[in-house]
Amino acid sequence: MPELPEVEVVVQHLNAHILGATIETLTIHRSDIVRIGHDLIPWFPQAKVTQIQRLGKCVVMTCQRSGQNRYILSELGMTGLWFYQASLAASPQHIHCQITLSGKKIKELHYWNPRRFGRLWLFEQSELDAFMQRRFGPDALTINQKEFCQLIQATRGQLKSFLLNQHRLAGIGNIYANEILFRAKIHPDAKGHHLRQISCQRLHQAMHDALREAIAAGGSSIRDFRRPDGSQGHFQKAHQVYQKDGKPCRHGCQTLIKRLQKERSSFFCPFCQKKY
Ligand SMILES: [Zn+2]
Repeated sequence: MPELPEVEVVVQHLNAHILGATIETLTIHRSDIVRIGHDLIPWFPQAKVTQIQRLGKCVVMTCQRSGQNRYILSELGMTGLWFYQASLAASPQHIHCQITLSGKKIKELHYWNPRRFGRLWLFEQSELDAFMQRRFGPDALTINQKEFCQLIQATRGQLKSFLLNQHRLAGIGNIYANEILFRAKIHPDAKGHHLRQISCQRLHQAMHDALREAIAAGGSSIRDFRRPDGSQGHFQKAHQVYQKDGKPCRHGCQTLIKRLQKERSSFFCPFCQKKY
């Protein structure tokens, strides 16, 4: 958490409320939260926020000053979020970056991260390009069916590990991997290269449906996820398998959802979800 839909919701919110704003100050409260780019911190005051986009599970703000672009890339990690007001964060002592803004109604932006798995990077263009190439495979929301099926069929390992591997496919974490596999009726231990073409196509459709529905519902507010204005998403109410072990299968077969405890838990219907 947060995964692609939650990050997309954050990006939509920031685009609606701070796009075009001017950065007045950029203050880092914990220096170890910035992985790269400490020397760029003084550059940002008076830069304008000209674009906000999602890359995998990261938020990227493009900032422009004197015809030059610099980028603030934030990984939300397990619990990282952007809030408009410090008071919206459950524990304000975990706000690690503060940006003050002018030119828009929203005057402040706070990066909050109690578990500090998330990170910030301050980049120049070439650094951003190299980072993207190193870190991200094709985006799960936009990859087309043909390319997706080719990637799956070239995967000799577990399909679920493929879905979670950001280098292969960017954006999906454990919650949506489980939900997508259930929708597609594919077993989490299925091997990519064993899947028939029709199953790959069904998986692609299930992935796009689940991600789009989740974005429309404002994401899943499990644990700490909140939008920048503090409001919650609702997609957790539509989850069919994630943390539903012991409950009857929602496909209607009456089998109880099973939990497989591994590095990251799999939740699935042993009857409906097949390995081929
Ligand atoms: Zn079932």
